[in-house]
Amino acid sequence: DPITTDMKTLTAEIEKFAKDKKIEIDTLKIREEYRKDFLGNVSHELKTPLFTVQGYLETLLEGAINDKNVRKKYLQRANKAVERLIYIVKDLDLITKLEAGELNVERSDFDIIELIQSVFELLEMKAAKKEITMTFDMEYPEPIYVNADREKIQQVLTNLLVNSIKYGQPQGTTEVSVENLIRNKVIVRVTDNGEGIPEQYIPRLFERFYRVDQSGSRKEGGSGLGLSIVKHIIEAHGEKIYVESVEKVGSEFSFTLEKATPSKE
Ligand code: ADP
Repeated sequence: DPITTDMKTLTAEIEKFAKDKKIEIDTLKIREEYRKDFLGNVSHELKTPLFTVQGYLETLLEGAINDKNVRKKYLQRANKAVERLIYIVKDLDLITKLEAGELNVERSDFDIIELIQSVFELLEMKAAKKEITMTFDMEYPEPIYVNADREKIQQVLTNLLVNSIKYGQPQGTTEVSVENLIRNKVIVRVTDNGEGIPEQYIPRLFERFYRVDQSGSRKEGGSGLGLSIVKHIIEAHGEKIYVESVEKVGSEFSFTLEKATPSKE
């Protein structure tokens, strides 16, 4: 009977419409949760250094300013906390843009070996403070041209190397290697012999604000955004990032890149 058939079609259509709407609402709910989490995390991360600055300034105003020895120490500590704030805000800015898809991957051909060397130079002082040696696994590194966004890959290398210094043991080593893979790819590895990461924490490492040592008294400063920025950048290139780590032995972070196509002249 045609009326029954029509009714059936209509009911099916309404059901489908309701289902689609439900999915839409569920997605909105998840996004809203995510946004709340994000804002909660941001304010939490900003609070600690802000209170630190306030604490030192108040103590200074209450009279410590007259003590010549204390004055300098407190101002230096307040300044350190401000530095940390700037560092967090910069990372936040970058991750917001990356997540909104606002930062385009601007590809060019460049020598990855040269880039690694220049990042080594930038981090020399930081590594020296902990007597950490940064090395290449090759004795005579030769140029290897890749096709990627140079500035963003510089950020990736910086974040990974800074971590290997921060979580490395004093007088330890960080080794970087670049190896050819099949299908026009290379793999860049950053290996340290530092504190390593307990297995159960590894799956969450790339989440933003995630830090293994959640305690307020953690030794190392940081925003917990470094690795999520790294992951975003590598995935925006259509590449992959890997981590292997053993507690108290060390960690290895590696990522792939596309090789530059040799010119056909
Ligand atoms: P941050 O260093 O600012 O805390 P990251 O996102 O860069 O944030 O890293 C997240 C967490 O992963 C760190 O807090 C640390 O616990 C762990 N981690 C990262 N790199 C290493 C490493 N090379 N060795 C040991 N732990 C690491």
